[in-house]
Amino acid sequence: KDFRNNVKPNWCPGCGDFSVQAAIQRASANVGLTPENLAVISGIGCSGRISGYINSYGFHSIHGRALPLAQGVKMGNRDLTVIASGGDGDGFAIGLGHTIHAIRRNIDMTYIVMDNQIYGLTKGQTSPRSSAGFKTKSTPKGAIEPSINPMEMALTSGATFVAQGFSSDLKELTSLIEQGLNHKGFSLINVFSPCVTYNKVNTYDWFKENLVKLSSVEGYDHSNKESAMQMLMQHDGLVTGLIYQDAEQPSYQELIDGYDEKPLSKQNLNLEEDYFNHLVKEFM
Ligand code: SF4
Repeated sequence: KDFRNNVKPNWCPGCGDFSVQAAIQRASANVGLTPENLAVISGIGCSGRISGYINSYGFHSIHGRALPLAQGVKMGNRDLTVIASGGDGDGFAIGLGHTIHAIRRNIDMTYIVMDNQIYGLTKGQTSPRSSAGFKTKSTPKGAIEPSINPMEMALTSGATFVAQGFSSDLKELTSLIEQGLNHKGFSLINVFSPCVTYNKVNTYDWFKENLVKLSSVEGYDHSNKESAMQMLMQHDGLVTGLIYQDAEQPSYQELIDGYDEKPLSKQNLNLEEDYFNHLVKEFM
């Protein structure tokens, strides 16, 4: 099925977000989805535009709030496969609280973060993923705070699926998204997605020199949380692949009595005219 539409992305040529879009479209087709049963909910930032570039249900929401909306969509209609997406500023600054609670809630959906380590849409300020010393117009002498490590944070928050990809490796990224979509619970996929316009430090070449592919690490066991944490600490978070998965944990939905009966969006809530008249009488 075709997840392409006629909207031409207005990302800068070379932006890593193009590959994330392609990977979502390919992975969705590969796992057998159709545009009618996929919803892509995005936040604000250059990456937030992605919901308009994929032929599916979509909602371009507000800054840092893609996850509450996406969780609501999934809880309202479990028949939809739900992807939330946004940038590192969206998910790890203003939306960080939502990210941690969505992780521990383990609702069956996928969150894809386009991590360019800068605020691109507002023309290049330090983000929570910028490294200490990183110079931008908002930090002309270099960032003072160290960067957040989202993968370590996810592990300590109880995540059941933690993966990291790189825009330049479309094959691996597509495979990770497929695995995330097939995971029964909340999957977090952080993607190194270079901002070619404003981040002149964390470039494609920089990532190629510094990233370690877990698939090339002999004996790496993604079901072992301790190994996952050690691997992240050893490489300062600069790894790609499936970092950790616990396929046994039940999802949030599976723990709700009666959830299976009928999706909320398909239930008759009896909101008839009489009901509104009753409300009017009650409150006037
Ligand atoms: Fe991509 Fe950066 Fe351009 Fe935004 S400013 S579209 S993140 S390259």
